[in-house]
Amino acid sequence: MSDRYAVIGNPIGHTKSPLIHSLFAQETGQDMSYEAIEGPVGSASGFSDSVKSFIAAGGRGMNVTAPFKLQAFEISDERSERAELSGAVNAMKFEDGRIIAENFDGVGLVRDIEVNLHQPMAGKRVLILGAGGAARGALLPFIAARPAKLVITNRHVDKARALVEQVAGSLTAGGSLTACGYADLEAMGRFDLVINATSASLTGQLPPVPPGVFSASAIAYELAYGKGLTPFLRLARNAGVQGIADGVGMLVEQAAEAFAWWRGVRPQTRALIERLTVPLD
Ligand code: NDP
Repeated sequence: MSDRYAVIGNPIGHTKSPLIHSLFAQETGQDMSYEAIEGPVGSASGFSDSVKSFIAAGGRGMNVTAPFKLQAFEISDERSERAELSGAVNAMKFEDGRIIAENFDGVGLVRDIEVNLHQPMAGKRVLILGAGGAARGALLPFIAARPAKLVITNRHVDKARALVEQVAGSLTAGGSLTACGYADLEAMGRFDLVINATSASLTGQLPPVPPGVFSASAIAYELAYGKGLTPFLRLARNAGVQGIADGVGMLVEQAAEAFAWWRGVRPQTRALIERLTVPLD
């Protein structure tokens, strides 16, 4: 029997993970299956029960998507440092009766920016909007990419401040990390890379970011994907930003990280990213 993997979320109809992983398996010659599971919401043990029955049925690993990333964190036995920091888990491996947990969202994002978009972050001024699960997952991989300045802003600024305090010890020499409110951004100067890691675009909203944050050669990166020119990307475009991207590359890259973790072989991503890209204009 093929090794079984799955993604669990609710709703799950929109997921591209089964397509992505089956193409990865085909390309790398791995004997595995990958399905989508709609996890139950509104029941205290429903998520954990679903995971346990998948393990009992021979499951080897799972991706986790909204709204279960925090519950996956809670039920795991072992967690990577970045999963610990983000408090959220997007991939699990089942080994010897244990649930081992990872969060590949941040490394997937950094890889998309640095490798696919050819924008190394070292020495750059980087602004992250939002301090939710995705921003938290991105923080350690971003610090490891050694930007000169990393600023995190959030509506509830205390969340951004708490996050900065948590990772202050991971900062490398020469880098700076600051949390601030949106109202303080005008005074922060311009940024080379501005990441919208809020969920505002999912409801067609724009985070209150001033257009003056973009440098002349800035890249504006929207984590949401498949939504065309979101209000954030439109703001960037209207501010004269040439380089805009959405999170489809991050989606494929985090999947490739999970695949490599499970199967020991890293699949190619470029053709798949092109295939899944919805034009921004
Ligand atoms: P969370 O719910 O954990 O966090 C939401 C964040 O958005 C919070 O910081 C919240 O601020 C902020 N926010 C929500 N609405 C607004 C608004 N109108 N204005 C300003 N800030 C707002 O979400 P996630 O971190 O899990 O997801 C964030 C985004 O990343 C989503 O668009 C999601 O689809 C995308 N994503 C993409 C992935 C990919 O592979 N491409 C992977 C994971 C996520 P506050 O704390 O103040 O409420």
